Amino acid sequence: TVLGIETSCDDTGVAVVRSDGEILGEAIASQAELHEAWGGVVPGIARDAHRDALGGAVELALRRAGLSSAAEVDAVAVTVGPGLEICLRVGCEEAVRLATAHGKAFVAVHHLEAHVLMARLACHPPPPFPFLTLLTSGGHCQLLLTRGIGDHQVIGSTLDDALGEAYDKVARLLELPVGGGGGPALESLAREGDPSATPLPVPMRNKPSFDFSLKTAVRLAVERASEEERASPAFRAGVAASFQNAALRHLEMRLTRARDSLGCAPDTLVLSGGVAANAELRRRTPSPRDDGAPWRMVVPPPRLCTDNGVMVAWAAAERLKLGLTDAPDV
Ligand code: ATP
Ligand code: FE
Repeated sequence: TVLGIETSCDDTGVAVVRSDGEILGEAIASQAELHEAWGGVVPGIARDAHRDALGGAVELALRRAGLSSAAEVDAVAVTVGPGLEICLRVGCEEAVRLATAHGKAFVAVHHLEAHVLMARLACHPPPPFPFLTLLTSGGHCQLLLTRGIGDHQVIGSTLDDALGEAYDKVARLLELPVGGGGGPALESLAREGDPSATPLPVPMRNKPSFDFSLKTAVRLAVERASEEERASPAFRAGVAASFQNAALRHLEMRLTRARDSLGCAPDTLVLSGGVAANAELRRRTPSPRDDGAPWRMVVPPPRLCTDNGVMVAWAAAERLKLGLTDAPDV
């Protein structure tokens, strides 16, 4: 069993996961309400909230796993990056302390690999390597060829915003609740709107690369609208639906291009990262191959797509199976 700790951004996540993928205990403290007033994550506030919540979250996850202390797990794992440095530090200090105090194996986890590997815990049968990964989160938008643990080839990356960040920016523009990420609120608003209401260009339609790009067309469309229009629910829902439609169409085109160009394309596509919680993305992604056979599209349940402790514990369990541990001096 592994105790995993995640404090890279605004969620304090802790979980105890067994090497076969069974989630034994989990706790998550969201800071959504704390950051709401600021329209985004404030690092100093996030760090203090992690400090306040972490001890209790560790205790709760252990208790839910039926354990009385970290002495009863086999290893302690923590996200070491990428993320907000002062927030990462809170998790790292606690994980190092626990591992040292109880003489446990220590595993340093890469946040993005943890997002990617979630599919191997949550989906049955687990996708074997290699697979293609579309990683879309608050800070990243990448197409990866995942060959194994610690072996991810970046095939394409965003040229400007990450998709989650674009969702957050458009949500802010429409004055939706953005604490903890504006994606969910924007997604529900988009459900009520007409995706062709606001004409928006699909980014980079004619560029032959695999890179992603999102533009300022949404902002311009909102700025050009009159006061009344901007206040109208139909207009707002239309903007939300049009943005989502253009963004997802953009992803589809990049994926199709990658599929057609990768000679040895793996037949599994993994969706991961916070935006993979989006129902419309999940619905639209399984792109059929030219020969008619669908790609096997694999995506964790929505709650495991956004940041959590389970992904950290599981990524560490995968590393431990290969005999990989780290010195507790990160
Ligand atoms: P990274 O993983 O790149 O370091 P992060 O950890 O901050 O960034 P995640 O927690 O993986 O990001 O994902 C959060 C992002 O996902 C936010 O931008 C949020 O708006 C977005 N998101 C969450 N749910 C949805 C949804 N249903 N639709 C669209 N976007 C969503
Ligand atoms: Fe993340």
